[in-house]
Amino acid sequence: MSQLLTGVPASPGIAIAKAYRLEAEESIPQQRKVDDPAAEKQRLRSAVDAAKADIDRIRETTLERLGPQKAEIFEAHLFLLDDPDLIDTTLDQIESEGVNAEYALHEVASSIIEALQSMDNEMLRERAADVKDITGRVISKLEGREHSALSELSAETILIAKDLTPSDTAQLNLEFVRGFVTEIGSRTSHSAIMARSLELAAVVGTGADASGIRTGDMIILDATAGQVIVNPSDEQLREYSVRKAEYEEYKTRMRSYVDRPSVTADGVQVELASNIGGIDDLEKVLANGADGIGLFRTEFLYMGRSSFPSEEEQYSVYKHVLEKMNGKRVVIRTLDIGGDKELPYLQLPKEMNPFLGQRAIRLCLDKEDLFRTQLRALLRASMHGKLAIMFPMIAVLGELREAKRILAEERAKLEQEGTKVSDTLEVGIMIEIPAAAIAADVLAKEVDFFSIGTNDLIQYTMAADRMNESVAYLYQPHHPSILRLVQLVIQAANRHGKWAGMCGEMAGDSAAIPLLLGLGLYEFSMSASSVLPARELISRLSREEWAGLAEQAIGMSTQQEVLDFVNQQLRSEA
Ligand code: PEP
Ligand code: MG
Repeated sequence: MSQLLTGVPASPGIAIAKAYRLEAEESIPQQRKVDDPAAEKQRLRSAVDAAKADIDRIRETTLERLGPQKAEIFEAHLFLLDDPDLIDTTLDQIESEGVNAEYALHEVASSIIEALQSMDNEMLRERAADVKDITGRVISKLEGREHSALSELSAETILIAKDLTPSDTAQLNLEFVRGFVTEIGSRTSHSAIMARSLELAAVVGTGADASGIRTGDMIILDATAGQVIVNPSDEQLREYSVRKAEYEEYKTRMRSYVDRPSVTADGVQVELASNIGGIDDLEKVLANGADGIGLFRTEFLYMGRSSFPSEEEQYSVYKHVLEKMNGKRVVIRTLDIGGDKELPYLQLPKEMNPFLGQRAIRLCLDKEDLFRTQLRALLRASMHGKLAIMFPMIAVLGELREAKRILAEERAKLEQEGTKVSDTLEVGIMIEIPAAAIAADVLAKEVDFFSIGTNDLIQYTMAADRMNESVAYLYQPHHPSILRLVQLVIQAANRHGKWAGMCGEMAGDSAAIPLLLGLGLYEFSMSASSVLPARELISRLSREEWAGLAEQAIGMSTQQEVLDFVNQQLRSEA
């Protein structure tokens, strides 16, 4: 009997192969008393050195295979192996308690891991995996075991594991590994991120369901749907062989759009840009031929650390992104913290309604020093490419004017100091609050562009918390009330000769793109992997025709009516 498991679709693809179960090496070291703590401490130091040599080798291979950004994680691992909190504390414990090195290291690491895992911040929780990875490696050395034999697989395989450490993932032999399934993990775990850059099919977070899979079981991995079929029937095997071939054909077809312009069937040029959270995402943006960056969420620069990033640090990141994009437009959003994103070191008071509280521009206007540092870094970086600065969560004109006043002051200061600032720098705002959408004609006069943040615009329009599953049914991008607001914004921008973009999830939704195009949207910013499918779709659409169809959709009564209408039109055009 075949068995169906579901998990998080972490990296798309379809694979069919036999399972190889990677057994967790989580043996808990036994405590032993040692007679000579000094010798035991030396044993630990030698094991740490041997582990460092291994990691250095993995770092080199990763550098060659995946480039410097992916190799950085192993620099962090080397750094951790020098961390006094881990190593010195372990050495002290060996000395004071007279216990064996593997036991002391396991004890010290466990308390660090536990502390990290209890953090609110997802990035810090991920650090726990790094500490686990390196201590596992050192303990293997102490116990005289080989850490893992992943690089030695020799037949087509789908890897099954409780979890894969970053070093496991980096060592996968891509000649044979066709994909992996892990019991724990999320879309943002290191293994998921690595899988996406290796273009390896992966489903993570299946829970204990995958623990029953044995080496040698036949597996169909449909990572596009987040499904794993264990010991499939002949019929399922036939069906998925066809799907796999279709998927591969689809990918090849999409790749042919990498260097093509983003133009509709009736010759209207649009911009298909990408959203990023940091420089690690650039590789994918470039590989997918995006026309620019429509949203750089800079808050990630501030998260997962214990103090603010300096002006210099921010400047070098912004400069790097602008240079990499080589003259294509880069929209950098100023700090959008608050709501679901916290900064522990900022020590903000708890709010009753964080999404309606002091987030984004509201916070920046209150904490001017913080804002000014970021603006200076941005202004300086503007000389290195085509920069657009974007203020988030603008509700009223006064906020925009205040933000622009501070920006102008910092610009004047820099110029007085002899620092050049670009003359072509654009300044725009996100439209994500209904008040701003309704008054877009007023705001349009004082900006260079709008970018519609539908993730928030929908939550505020529907009064439905975007994090609350029980009201998720109200997240309706295709609802006529949302389309009407979007239309107001686009019309206001176009009437004033400004461009209108969208950087909420809706911009990459294939059932929304035709309507947005018809409404006159110019820039669509989405995750990098959506760019090529969007470009292919746009190339089949006529803007003129969809202008009429979008008008009809706006007059409808429900989201379902709109969706049925769009899908039927797309089918009849195919
Ligand atoms: C949005 O609100 O649509 C948006 C793009 O911003 P974020 O998702 O970062 O709030
Ligand atoms: Mg938002």
